[in-house]
Amino acid sequence: MLGFSLPKILLLCFIILFVWYGFKIIEKRTHIKKNKSSNKNNKSSASKFKADDVQDLEKCPVCSNYFLAGSKCSECNPTK
Ligand SMILES: [Zn+2]
Repeated sequence: MLGFSLPKILLLCFIILFVWYGFKIIEKRTHIKKNKSSNKNNKSSASKFKADDVQDLEKCPVCSNYFLAGSKCSECNPTK
C-alpha cells in the first residue's frame, strides 16, 4: 500500500489545510497594509502634483512634433 495509512493521510491533509489558511491570513494582512500605504501615497502624490502641472501635448500634422496644446508648433513656427 506504498506506506500510506489513514492517520498519515489525515495528518497530511491537516498540514496542507494549516499552511493554506496560514497563507490566507498572511495575504489578508499584507493586503490591508498595502491598501493603507497606497491610500497614504495617493494623498501625498495628490498634494505634490496639482492638476495645473499636467499639460496636454498635441502632435503637429506637418512635422509630427509634439507641442503644448493651445500654442503653435515650435518646429514649424520658431519663436526666435
Ligand atoms: Zn510642426
